[in-house]
Amino acid sequence: MSLKGKTALVTGSTSGIGLGIGRALAAAGADLMLNGFGDAAQIAALRTSLEAEYDVRVAYSPADMSKPDQIAAMVAETAKTLGGPDILVNNAGIQHVANIEDFPDERWHAIIAVNLSATFFAMKAAIPGMKAKRWGRIINIASAHGLVASAQKVAYVAAKHGVLGATKVAAIELANLGITVNAICPGWVKTPLVERQLEARAAADGISPEEAGRLFLAEKQPMLQFSTPEGIGGLAVFLCSDAASTITGVPLSIDGGWVAQ
Ligand code: NAD
Repeated sequence: MSLKGKTALVTGSTSGIGLGIGRALAAAGADLMLNGFGDAAQIAALRTSLEAEYDVRVAYSPADMSKPDQIAAMVAETAKTLGGPDILVNNAGIQHVANIEDFPDERWHAIIAVNLSATFFAMKAAIPGMKAKRWGRIINIASAHGLVASAQKVAYVAAKHGVLGATKVAAIELANLGITVNAICPGWVKTPLVERQLEARAAADGISPEEAGRLFLAEKQPMLQFSTPEGIGGLAVFLCSDAASTITGVPLSIDGGWVAQ
């Protein structure tokens, strides 16, 4: 399938799952607006290598997803430099792990802002352009934690459940305008976000990070295997295809059976 002529904006695409999705969309032919934090020289090198590898245009926005005005400016910048966005992937996310009574207020506000409110602000800014073209794909990266809970992740679980609610509302509002809105709900994926949790668990239990990884999988997933950014990228490309044009408003799990239990 070809996404030639489409532009994808993927938030949080300098690392992990977002980079996997950006790479898969570029491989399918989409021009790409990267976003996320990181070393400027490394991001510039990433842009150049993606452009060379996939023969697409790649731009970068340093917008902070906790700032609504920066989100609107990033969408406007995408339209100006690349056209679109025809495909919006709300992926940027952060995590903090603590019991509710110990959970810092500042972390609650930051996680709700980046993991939930940014999805609303980006959809709000991108929908008018998609409506004008009568084609669009919005993919919100939720989590198994959008469907079920775990202890010590109150802000993350609340935000991800909220993302699924916002996904359903947008899907209904846009149902007859050529725009689909879906959520992807990954289980464990070994990215910097999870590696930090593995290291904390390894330090707490006096075990290796590899052993912590095996424990994480065994505690949550029937399938003792991490999902990958490449696999999630493949699912995102499928959601952009004609075959997926009547899939809307659903959470698609890619979680090794986590929520089947
Ligand atoms: P990651 O830490 O590797 O990447 C996060 C990306 O978001 C980075 O590019 C980072 O720079 C960017 N980001 C963070 N805060 C930002 C901000 N304020 N503004 C702009 N960009 C910001 O994490 P990941 O595991 O790839 O997570 C990506 C998404 O997938 C998140 O929404 C996460 O909740 C979700 N997810 C991850 C897993 C997992 O196991 N890794 C599972 C389910 C869902």
